[in-house]
Amino acid sequence: MDQITHWINGALDTSKPERSGDIYNPATGKTTKSVAFGNAATVDRAVNAATIAFAEWRHSSLTKRTQVLFAFRELVAQNKERIAALITDEHGKVLSDAAGEVTRGLEVVEFACGIPHLLKGGFSEEVSTGVDVYSIRQALGPVAIISPFNFPAMVPMWFFPVAIACGNTVIVKPSEKDPSAAMFMAKLWKEAGLPDGVFNVVHGDKEVVDALLTHKGIKSISFVGSTPIARYVYETGTKAGKRVQALGGAKNHMVVLPDADLELAADAAINAGFGSAGERCMAISAIVAVEPIASALVARIKSRMANIKTGDGTQGSDMGPLVTAVHRDKVASYIEAGAKAGATLVVDGRALEIAGDGFWLGPTLFDHVTPDMSIYKEEIFGPVLSVLRVNTYDEALALVNSHEYGNGTAIFTNDGGAARRYQNEVEVGMVGINVPIPVPMAYYSFGGWKNSLFGDSHAHGTEGVHFFTRGKVVTSRWLDPSHGGINLGFPQND
Ligand code: NAD
Repeated sequence: MDQITHWINGALDTSKPERSGDIYNPATGKTTKSVAFGNAATVDRAVNAATIAFAEWRHSSLTKRTQVLFAFRELVAQNKERIAALITDEHGKVLSDAAGEVTRGLEVVEFACGIPHLLKGGFSEEVSTGVDVYSIRQALGPVAIISPFNFPAMVPMWFFPVAIACGNTVIVKPSEKDPSAAMFMAKLWKEAGLPDGVFNVVHGDKEVVDALLTHKGIKSISFVGSTPIARYVYETGTKAGKRVQALGGAKNHMVVLPDADLELAADAAINAGFGSAGERCMAISAIVAVEPIASALVARIKSRMANIKTGDGTQGSDMGPLVTAVHRDKVASYIEAGAKAGATLVVDGRALEIAGDGFWLGPTLFDHVTPDMSIYKEEIFGPVLSVLRVNTYDEALALVNSHEYGNGTAIFTNDGGAARRYQNEVEVGMVGINVPIPVPMAYYSFGGWKNSLFGDSHAHGTEGVHFFTRGKVVTSRWLDPSHGGINLGFPQND
């Protein structure tokens, strides 16, 4: 069985782990690999390597950084299928989804290739006679990235290309459930010519996260995961004096107005609700149908659900298994709770039968869900869609705005004025208009509001550049050579 270990200073860590974790193939339920769990000593070794590497990397020219980023971009693109296969093997999502996340990550690398432009400062000449003021942005030092299981390639790539391009050195702590994509990319960085110690990977659970949050050598924390852990990471990291961006959970609403194209809305509900088995922070999990279209919409979604092929992600399926047996059972318990609470169970995913021990659960649809039910209040993070029926736009808006999460939302309508009002009034960080999953492009920043993000910086885009650098303003006065400088033929003072 493969043993995955840490990547420190451009090499695999050979120390014997005190603890390790199992990695499963979710489609078979079998344990396939084991991952070493690090501790404070592991983090210390990684921080030492990153600190030594920082002394040189921060002085690498913008040209050199861009060349390495371009080379890395090419290597990731060439190896997209191999990275996707590693993701499907450990996460379970279908291969096309896995390849799609690598593509989204690559877009951030491409964005970071423009770092010479992104790091340009400002300059004001003659703020006082003979005095100029200019601004520069400088790297922070070693920075940590702690990522969730659901996007093992894309989420670390939201951060590390920008961090490295800005001159920082990086320690990634991937999810212990699917750490292989990060390891593969570590090797690609080395092949791309990144100096050893600039990109490191440590594995583990709370113990290693706590060591990163409190280590004096770590200057910032970029975290993505569930809301309770995001809050904890934010509070602990900021208390230790670090800058922290901690992206948390979600409950994304899709509002369907009565004038919407219901075929388009139903297609979107299927893609956004069940893609990646609902294990996406931008998945739609609550559909707010503004009457009188709810029954017509539910009928369309139900009929499309019959065509979703759930199965092994390597076999041309539409939807794969859930990540672990524990998570599958948790999602199934929400279905039980929703039915008990009185919601109408239109399609029950628990009825799905697939031979073997894979972590299967079929797509599920609830109608007549009310705001007091746990299936609406809490993040389920599985293939479960809930339809809530309301009578007006204002009721729909109030529902979305009173939810604790504010990551993403979509509105379906043919009325541009209604869409414009929604984008203005909704308290959510990312808004889609007639699009199912409003994931911004790499050059915009990604992040939610309310309990979906702690800290004030979103990921990548210019906010990412800002997060991974600190500003410095220089006020300078250079006396004219006539004041005793080198003799350039100007008249000299006595
Ligand atoms: P998680 O919170 O369980 O784990 C995230 C990371 O934190 C992992 O690296 C894990 O090892 C570590 N961790 C887990 N428990 C910890 C603890 N007690 N102390 C310190 N560290 C701990 O999240 P997950 O299950 O891996 O991922 C799913 C969650 O991530 C969902 O809630 C989803 O909405 C969220 N997510 C959010 C975004 C976003 O952009 N807002 C993107 C992707 C995923």
